[in-house]
Amino acid sequence: MALRFPPLLPLIVLCFCSSVIVAHKYDDPTAKTMEDFSGYPIQEPHSFIQNSFSSLSVEMESLQKQIDELASFSDTPAPSVTRILYTEKDVLARRYIKNLMGLSGLSVREDAVGNIFGRWDGYEPELSAVATGSHIDAIPYSGKYDGVVGVLGAIEAINVLMRFGFKPRRSLEIILFTSEEPTRFGISCLGSRLLAGIEVLAKALKTTVDAKNGSFLDAARSAGYVKDDNDLSSVFIKKGSYSAFVELHIEQGPILEEEGISIGIVTAIAAPASIKVEFEGNGGHAGAVLMPNRNDAGLAAAELALAVEKHVLESGSVDTVGTVGILELHPGAINSIPSKSHLEIDTRDIDEDRRNTVIENIRQSAIRIAKGRGVRLFEFNVINQDPPALAEKAIIKAVEAASKELNLTHKFMISRAYHDSLFMARVSPMGMIFIPCYKGYSHKPEEYASIEDIANGVKVLAVTLAKLSLT
Ligand SMILES: [Zn+2]
Repeated sequence: MALRFPPLLPLIVLCFCSSVIVAHKYDDPTAKTMEDFSGYPIQEPHSFIQNSFSSLSVEMESLQKQIDELASFSDTPAPSVTRILYTEKDVLARRYIKNLMGLSGLSVREDAVGNIFGRWDGYEPELSAVATGSHIDAIPYSGKYDGVVGVLGAIEAINVLMRFGFKPRRSLEIILFTSEEPTRFGISCLGSRLLAGIEVLAKALKTTVDAKNGSFLDAARSAGYVKDDNDLSSVFIKKGSYSAFVELHIEQGPILEEEGISIGIVTAIAAPASIKVEFEGNGGHAGAVLMPNRNDAGLAAAELALAVEKHVLESGSVDTVGTVGILELHPGAINSIPSKSHLEIDTRDIDEDRRNTVIENIRQSAIRIAKGRGVRLFEFNVINQDPPALAEKAIIKAVEAASKELNLTHKFMISRAYHDSLFMARVSPMGMIFIPCYKGYSHKPEEYASIEDIANGVKVLAVTLAKLSLT
């Protein structure tokens, strides 16, 4: 096999089990050489420094300081964080991240909507890179860990590998995704959706406005993006640009903390579908119109809400969930029969067919209920229907091996919230690493992850990236 390592590569033995400084690979059957680690032969098996994974060091103090500093770029007072796309605070936070990437020696570039890329060139830079990353935007009055752990943690993971003396074969790239949260323009995972090449979104953004009627393009320009023309297709990346994408994230659920487990290895990401429904009836006086003569749009909504629960439960899987999060009645007076009702339904699953069956059953129920109650089904609109994603087996294995080698407990789990990884899965093999967070709190100021748990996640990410970069 051809030489795969450059002459300057410090021949490091990545081994957890031994603290011997210099050893011969063939003397110690428990020692794992770079060769074992990568699957590729090394040039000089006789002279290498043996190191151990236990020597991987995360600089916890400076990482915590960075998390706190980033949280100060907020439009609401601490401990809450509010950082909305393309606002002054968002621009400052982006600058902070680019600066850190630069300090780590990464080459930094940005695309037309402000996805930020920090690249560490591998010694075979022509190979597709291994990517990691997350987001730093924060919904109003949220916390400082959601997304942030996957960006600052990724930079620290690269620093960990650099301090260790590791040289990546495939380039390693950190991505900061633009607007994972839908706060300003109502579109979640805006940056990763565009990276995944969703053309309808690239077109729609030309006319998208925020609640104050400010256009997306003007907002992007004010932050220094969309400079040349309005064509956002330059953001699209080709399938195969990355050999793997791994996102580090707080769990946003209570399981890891409750079970005292350090690392969650995500096997699938559930994807939501959103449905808007409107019923219209005749309304009328709450006293004067007798029961047999009513066409009550409110009761139709109530009946549909119960039908949503029924259809979800019928799926027979705990992975199917459905929620009526919005139910509004018009005119909303105690003595008036509702003449209009409006529902918004969220249903999620890791199995797309099963979720789509639920949607179809809800539609049939809406039709049946409208008929039965003599109201009109004015609207039944499936607003979005993103496909769920499965994590790549090879990435799951790499994260599992990293956790074991680092002596960290792990658990396979499903991500019930969705992330930029859901869209990266369309253009790259994908995986996610979860760490515990306090009581599963997220999207509120009480959101918290201990620096020790974050450091564990950073180490697992670092070893996983190292493994994937050598394959
Ligand atoms: Zn997030």
